[in-house]
Amino acid sequence: MMHRITLIPGDGIGPEITKATLEVMEATGLKVEWEVFEAGTSAIEKYKNPLPDEVINSIRRNGVCLKGPTTTPIAEGFRSINVALRKELDLFANVRPAKSFEGISSHYKNVDIVVIRENTEDLYCGVEHRIGDFAAESIKIITAKASTRIAKFAFEYAKKEGRKKVTAVHKANIMKLTDGLFLECVRNVSKEYPDIIYEEIIVDNMCMQLVRNPEIYDVILCPNLYGDIISDLCAGLVGGLGVVPGANIGDNLAVFEAVHGSAPDIAGKNIANPTALILSAAQMLKYIGESERGRKIEKALEIVIKEKLCLTPDLGGNATTEEFSIKICEK
Ligand code: NAD
Repeated sequence: MMHRITLIPGDGIGPEITKATLEVMEATGLKVEWEVFEAGTSAIEKYKNPLPDEVINSIRRNGVCLKGPTTTPIAEGFRSINVALRKELDLFANVRPAKSFEGISSHYKNVDIVVIRENTEDLYCGVEHRIGDFAAESIKIITAKASTRIAKFAFEYAKKEGRKKVTAVHKANIMKLTDGLFLECVRNVSKEYPDIIYEEIIVDNMCMQLVRNPEIYDVILCPNLYGDIISDLCAGLVGGLGVVPGANIGDNLAVFEAVHGSAPDIAGKNIANPTALILSAAQMLKYIGESERGRKIEKALEIVIKEKLCLTPDLGGNATTEEFSIKICEK
C-alpha cells in the first residue's frame, strides 16, 4: 500500500538525520509518496514565512507528518514552529517514551517511562508582554477541557499499551488554582480506570525521584512546561537526546519528531545520531497501520546498539550518521 506523508526535514542536523531515517524506512520495503516542505529558518529565507500555509494544509490532508528539528531564535524573532504546529493543528498530546537500550552506557538499566505532556496551553500559550523597561508578564492558562482531554489520552494510552501506573506531576501546593484545576481533572478521569494505579507528585520531588529511582515510573502525565523539562530529564536517564523519539497527536492528525533540537553545534558534520528520528518514524509506522515494519526497525536498532556495531560519537563510538544508518538497513 502506498502512503502519502508530509515531510519537514528541518534545519541544523535535520536534513542529515532525515536522510538516514528515510533510508531505514525504505529498507523495510515501505512505499511512501512524501510531500516535502521547508519550515522555520529555511522557509523564512525562501517564503518570508516560517510556517507556510501549504505545510499546514498538507498535514491536514495527509493526517500524518514526519518532522526534523527546526531552530527557534532565542528571545526574539519568529515563534517556535513546533508550538505553532501544535496550536494550529490542535495536537494536544505530546508522547515521549524513554526506554533503556542495552549497549548504551547509563547509570540506569531498566527505565521504561512514557512522558505524556499537555501540548496546547500552560505557560507556552505565548500570552506574554513587557511592562515598560522594568518587568515582563507571561500568563499561565490551564483549562478543564484541555486537562480532562490529556488525562483521558494518558489513561487510554496506558490501557492500550498494557501499562500499570499513571503519575500526575504538578505544583499545586504553590499554583493552587492552575495546577489545582489540572489535578482535579486528572483525578476525576482516573476514577474511570480502576485497573490503573494513579498517583500524584510535586514536580521538584519528581525530578529528584527520577534521578534516584526511575525504574518505578511508568506513564508520567504533565502540564506543558513540566512535561517539556521532565521529558529531557528522562532522555538523560536512557542515554541522551539522541535516542528519544516523540509524537504530537491530535484527534485525527499526528506529527512525529525527535525530542531533540537542531543541534547547531554538530550540524553538517555527519556525526548526528539519527536514532531518535528513526524511532519516531517507527512510532509513525505503527500509527499508520504498518506495525510490523515499525517493530522491524526497532529490532534492527536494538541489535546495532546492543552489539555496538557502529555507534555515533554521542553513544561513545566514532561512526558517521551514514555508517550508522547503513548498519541498521543491513539488519
Ligand atoms: P539540542 O537538542 O539541539 O542540542 C542539545 C545537545 O544535544 C547539543 O549538544 C547537541 O549536539 C546534542 N544533540 C541533540 N541531538 C543530537 C543527536 N541527534 N545526535 C547527537 N547529539 C545530539 O538543543 P538546543 O541546543 O537547546 O537547541 C538548538 C535549537 O533547536 C534551538 O533553536 C531550539 O529552539 C531548537 N529545538 C527544536 C526542537 C524541535 O524542532 N522539535 C526541539 C528542541 C529544540
